[in-house]
Amino acid sequence: MPKIAVLPGDGIGKEIIPEALKVLKAVLAGSRYRFDFQEFLIGGTAIDEVETALPSDTLRACKDADAILLGSVGGPKWDTLPAIKRPELGALLPLRKELNLYANIRPVKVFPSLISASTLKEEIVKNVDLVVFRELTGGLYFGDKGRNDNPPAAYDVLIYSEEEIRRILELAFQASQGRRKKLCSVDKANVLESSRFWREIATDVAKQYPEVELTHLYVDNAAMQLVRYPEQFDVIVTENMFGDILTDLASMLSGSIGMLSSASMCGKKGLFEPAHGSAPDIAGQNKANPLATILSAAMMLRYTFDLHAEADRIERAVIKVLDQGYRTADLVKPGEKAVGTKEMGDAVVAAL
Ligand code: NAD
Repeated sequence: MPKIAVLPGDGIGKEIIPEALKVLKAVLAGSRYRFDFQEFLIGGTAIDEVETALPSDTLRACKDADAILLGSVGGPKWDTLPAIKRPELGALLPLRKELNLYANIRPVKVFPSLISASTLKEEIVKNVDLVVFRELTGGLYFGDKGRNDNPPAAYDVLIYSEEEIRRILELAFQASQGRRKKLCSVDKANVLESSRFWREIATDVAKQYPEVELTHLYVDNAAMQLVRYPEQFDVIVTENMFGDILTDLASMLSGSIGMLSSASMCGKKGLFEPAHGSAPDIAGQNKANPLATILSAAMMLRYTFDLHAEADRIERAVIKVLDQGYRTADLVKPGEKAVGTKEMGDAVVAAL
């Protein structure tokens, strides 16, 4: 039986993961597929219970699983720990590295009934349908880092191997082939040597995909274009830190970061999680939007298990509840009534 490691983590992770599981179990109940769901500790909750953000049995279970469903980690309670022990550096980054999850895929699509929830004008966001491929296990976040004493200084090294760049570009080109065949590679080649290297490799990989139109943008311009005229983008591919920033920016096109799903893949194996964090400001209050996590669960069915019909059903159910007017607090307009996390999960199950 395929194994799914379930890691609720911290903050709203503990509230949104049960909703995603509820939806997954409901959609699978009507099919012949069965999965073995097992829950494990991660993040600050794991620090509190077993004094490490990524316990060895969690890591073992994730290596052994076909897919991982993650809530989110982190929170103010653990912010004073040394950086390397904190939930983000101590759990998320090593998990991505250990599982070699080098490709982070984040679709950004505007749901018609949420157009008015975006802070941007309707005519700017209404046709947005893009996907960002972010390199996830290299670059600045994983390079050598440290401090010097005399004079006091700090450094983070940005290094990329050819293989690291080539494999994420290959995936992005392949995805472009199945979409509108437009790939935009984002770099900072006017300043960074690693970006010039990236651009050379992108140009070389493009020779294998002549039907895909490859363009290049500097990251500062890409940020501007994403809010100026986002529908120009189909597939965007970029390195780790640029992708981190651009995906949060792109999330606002869809109205709320609470709507944005993500997959981090190596082959068919993937870690699926919402694009947002643990939202300590609303944790424990039944206010979090569970839809990004529910949509991440749909991505899991699609990307790891090839269960496209079941993934479609979940995505259609999400569209239906939004069309019916269900809104969590992050999506309501002034004067509108919000539903809670659990009620939103129940509405999606009912819509299936
Ligand atoms: P965040 O994404 O947790 O929250 C940013 C804002 O968006 C907050 O106002 C929050 O209430 C809101 N928000 C986020 N998700 C929401 C949802 N599902 N429904 C409704 N509103 C939502 O980012 P942050 O505040 O910068 O970080 C909080 C903690 O999460 C930090 O410890 C950070 O390191 C961690 N973090 C973890 C991940 C991860 O686990 N992958 C990602 C980003 C941040």
